[in-house]
Amino acid sequence: MDESSKAKRSLNGLSLKATEKQKLEEKVINKKEWKRARRVSLDEQRDDGGDKQGELNALELCLHATVLGENVPVEVVKAKAAIMWKVEKKVDIQSIGNGFFFITFESKDDYNLVLDKGPWLVNERYLVFMKWKLGFNPLKACIEEANVWVRLLPHLPLEFSTKKHLSHVLRDVGEVVKLDENTEKYPTLFPRVCVTINLTKQLVLEIPITAGGRDSTINVMYENLDDELCIGCGYVGHKPYNCPDIILDEG
Ligand SMILES: [Zn+2]
Repeated sequence: MDESSKAKRSLNGLSLKATEKQKLEEKVINKKEWKRARRVSLDEQRDDGGDKQGELNALELCLHATVLGENVPVEVVKAKAAIMWKVEKKVDIQSIGNGFFFITFESKDDYNLVLDKGPWLVNERYLVFMKWKLGFNPLKACIEEANVWVRLLPHLPLEFSTKKHLSHVLRDVGEVVKLDENTEKYPTLFPRVCVTINLTKQLVLEIPITAGGRDSTINVMYENLDDELCIGCGYVGHKPYNCPDIILDEG
């Protein structure tokens, strides 16, 4: 029997003096004499004859995902994915807790298709992807970025309607990923653009522009973020009635 076990057992006896008891308690708390395991890292195993590159290549076809603002059951995500993703090979979706999913693809083409053709909606909310990374913990994960559709209202002058100019207009909103099909094809007063937004920062709700010597203000509308975005402060994650920046007039 090692020292700490003895100490624990002795604590149950009534014959110990107060000082001895205190010393033993300190020993147990410090756990210095407990047997400890050697530090574990998967790199050892991979270096030790494992197919390190093969394993890492396989993980490159994996994604972490979550539905923004709602804890959706994995069956719902699987059913929706089966309808909306036109993939060639097998895709596996597993729940990994705290509303996160682990998605594995057999084919690189399918992996690229799912990333490129989005954003995807489940229950009218964005399915947000994060590329697989070492040490990912769903209990601590924070979603920092999402690709969302943005519309500019009431209307943007036609000369702004190219990808280059729209990227300039939206520079403070986020990085432009792509234009929607119609915006890509035709000059439009009502562009719809997919933008990567930072969910931890205040979102832009208005853009002042000058066109033809006239100043005006364009409103930025974030599709499918109505339940998530507070129009009081521009942050995602609460509604105006829970907004820390709005003081309601109680009178
Ligand atoms: Zn707010």
